[in-house]
Amino acid sequence: MINHIVVCIKPIPDPEYYHQITIDPVKKTIQREGIPTIINPEDRHALEEALRIREKHGGKVILTSMAPPSAQTNLLEGLAMGADEAYLLSDRRFAGADTLATSYVLAKGIEKIGGADLVITGTQTGDGATAQVSSQLGEWLCVPHLWNVMEYYIESVDEVFVKTRVENGYLEWKATLPMVIGVTREINKPRLISVMGVMKAKKKPYAVYTADDLDLDPSRIGFEGSPTQPGEVFTPDIKRSCELVKGTGEELVHTLLAKLRERGIQIESYSDGCQAGVRE
Ligand SMILES: Cc1cc2nc3c(=O)[nH]c(=O)nc-3n(C[C@H](O)[C@H](O)[C@H](O)COP(=O)(O)OP(=O)(O)OC[C@H]3O[C@@H](n4cnc5c(N)ncnc54)[C@H](O)[C@@H]3O)c2cc1C
Repeated sequence: MINHIVVCIKPIPDPEYYHQITIDPVKKTIQREGIPTIINPEDRHALEEALRIREKHGGKVILTSMAPPSAQTNLLEGLAMGADEAYLLSDRRFAGADTLATSYVLAKGIEKIGGADLVITGTQTGDGATAQVSSQLGEWLCVPHLWNVMEYYIESVDEVFVKTRVENGYLEWKATLPMVIGVTREINKPRLISVMGVMKAKKKPYAVYTADDLDLDPSRIGFEGSPTQPGEVFTPDIKRSCELVKGTGEELVHTLLAKLRERGIQIESYSDGCQAGVRE
């Protein structure tokens, strides 16, 4: 019997706007204000998996995120995709959290909404990409956890089959619920959002919880509660330019070689007897 499937969703900066992201040289934090966000791509697969499990086994799909108030848009999108409820964990005191402080707040949020039979996350995000939060959540919740999950099948709460991706292959596991999984993009193809879904989303339960609403230890949250401290952080001085080169294949090769040589890149010509070529 499955009651709650919780899906953790992280809003990440829309890659279209990456060029607008800057780093505060004093606080050493990333300035994301005003930059539109998208749902972390793997988290869409996490939600899709939750919806498929609900279709087969019942239960509620509940979304949660620790993020600024603007994340409401991302959570609404998840509700439009088919989730039943969404809870945003948002408080200025959560700012500056490392992965441990983030997973702690998420675990406390999950406790607040009545626990979970299954927590599904992405394996990693497109921005922080530490791939730590999923396993840390399992540790805070004291349940088994697996990440890099590429296939997942629930026979019963006592019999769950999991396939995880490893280098050069995969591993097969037998597990029991409750548990936490971090999925990869190969697990499924997320469904599209319908207009009906968008209309229904606005009527679904949605709430924001602050630190005061959660039963937490204040020394474990935000910057102060983060054992990881960033070292030197700076905006790299990358000067990029783009030039369109036109011509036949042969002309293009000559133009490109000339441009590379102009920049001091050494390229030697050689002949293998049949075709002339270049190698660096
Ligand atoms: C000292 C320090 C200060 C930081 N300060 C800030 C800051 O001020 N603002 C800021 O935005 N970031 C800050 N960060 C980054 C922040 O710690 C990470 O964004 C966050 O912990 C998630 O890590 P990740 O992106 O590597 O997640 P991963 O471990 O790669 O994510 C795996 C999965 O976990 C879930 N997940 C991860 N994060 C969340 C979340 N917040 N809500 C719901 N689900 C989630 C998702 O399902 C995701 O697919 C700071 C980091 C450090 C070390």
